[in-house]
Amino acid sequence: MDDYWKELQGKRLHDPLSKNQVSPIPHILVQGPLIVGAGPSGLAVAACLKQKGIQSLILERAECIASLWQFKTYDRLRLHLPKQFCQLPFMPFPSHFPTYPTKQQFLSYLKAYADYFKLKPVFNCTVIRAEWDEGCGFWKVKSVRDQKVVVEYFCKWLIVATGENAEEIIPQIEGLEIFEGPVVHTSSYKTGEEFHGKKVLVIGCGNSGMEVCLDLCNFNASPYLVVRNSVHILPHEILGRSTFGLSMCLLRWLPMRIVDHFLLLLSRLMLGDTSKLGLHRPKFGPLQLKNLSGKTPVLDVGTFAKIKTGKIKVRSGVTRLTHRAAEFVDGSVENFDAVILATGYKSNVPSWLKERHMFDEKDGMPRKEFPNGWKGEYGLYAVGFTKRGLLGASIDAKRIADDIELCLEN
Ligand SMILES: Cc1cc2nc3c(=O)[nH]c(=O)nc-3n(C[C@H](O)[C@H](O)[C@H](O)COP(=O)(O)OP(=O)(O)OC[C@H]3O[C@@H](n4cnc5c(N)ncnc54)[C@H](O)[C@@H]3O)c2cc1C
Repeated sequence: MDDYWKELQGKRLHDPLSKNQVSPIPHILVQGPLIVGAGPSGLAVAACLKQKGIQSLILERAECIASLWQFKTYDRLRLHLPKQFCQLPFMPFPSHFPTYPTKQQFLSYLKAYADYFKLKPVFNCTVIRAEWDEGCGFWKVKSVRDQKVVVEYFCKWLIVATGENAEEIIPQIEGLEIFEGPVVHTSSYKTGEEFHGKKVLVIGCGNSGMEVCLDLCNFNASPYLVVRNSVHILPHEILGRSTFGLSMCLLRWLPMRIVDHFLLLLSRLMLGDTSKLGLHRPKFGPLQLKNLSGKTPVLDVGTFAKIKTGKIKVRSGVTRLTHRAAEFVDGSVENFDAVILATGYKSNVPSWLKERHMFDEKDGMPRKEFPNGWKGEYGLYAVGFTKRGLLGASIDAKRIADDIELCLEN
């Protein structure tokens, strides 16, 4: 990394943009594409470019690759989808890895990936602003290195790989600030060990909220799960195959509506009527809903059995929190020792990318739906914003590399 930094400083001396400047901010001309973010998406696109002989520069705010997986995930996490749907381009998972690799295995795979492709991001380098400069015909990318050194990069291609999960969503709940027990987002939750014997309110019923409840049960805590809206809960596996894999296979032959019916029928047979336990199903089927809104169905890894036995209690919404308790929409009140916010994440693109055409300034996601959201104007690209996890990121990465190669040929 330091070699790269020195090399860039060297390039700066020969950079026409930095000559005669009065600004104390170092200016660096990047020869190839500049990638913001060294998560799986950033690594994937850098590897695809490398395969074509195109060097890129990756800037990463954290001190390591895949910071979401390193720092913001719980210990018991495994990939939710089978490994063949999560591998990055040009490198499958090792054959001895299980179908659903653990978090540590996934991290070791990413490290091997970065090593194999000799990807060396500039770490501790946060991009704080990027904009297209019509005058000079470059993207101007301002960054802060080690929280103090401001550096401005100039590049022809800017690839946004900061992820759909860049910042935690903290819900606005009355009384959240006065609650006296610990209040933690799932990004800081590691294990249920510290909640042993405690009564814990888990707000949010996506895959993380459900799994955290299960983990809490396994550590003899008493979780209460808040399910404010409807939710599709599907078995993790159906007929011995991953539900996701089976759906992908059926979608090759059947319309989405029929596959949804099939999934719901089998879920009903395997799990029973989930609405009897407070988990009402949305109007649209699970695949259709994912397609329309990006909302991922919950793939049950054992939580539902605990809900059935009453070890996890379901509540339909919190109206407010007090010093030690929560008041629910049905008027009931329960005391709690801790609150866990399983309320998800959002993109941070609008906070630093000054651009209005490609990304929506409200949610920071590309305005165009998959598969068209990867390319903007003036050499701007997005990788990993498809709401289709790692599979979507790999598709984007290959497209972007092909497109840049084409630009270089012309
Ligand atoms: C608990 C959990 C489980 C998941 N399980 C799966 C799964 O099984 N399968 C699947 O396909 N997907 C899963 N996902 C989705 C997950 O988002 C992707 O797997 C993957 O992490 C996306 O990669 P990414 O590189 O797009 O984003 P990220 O992994 O979020 O990486 C983005 C990187 O950009 C950096 N960054 C952000 N802003 C800046 C900035 N301004 N300047 C510089 N750097 C910046 C961040 O530090 C980060 O390292 C899961 C997500 C979570 C939260």
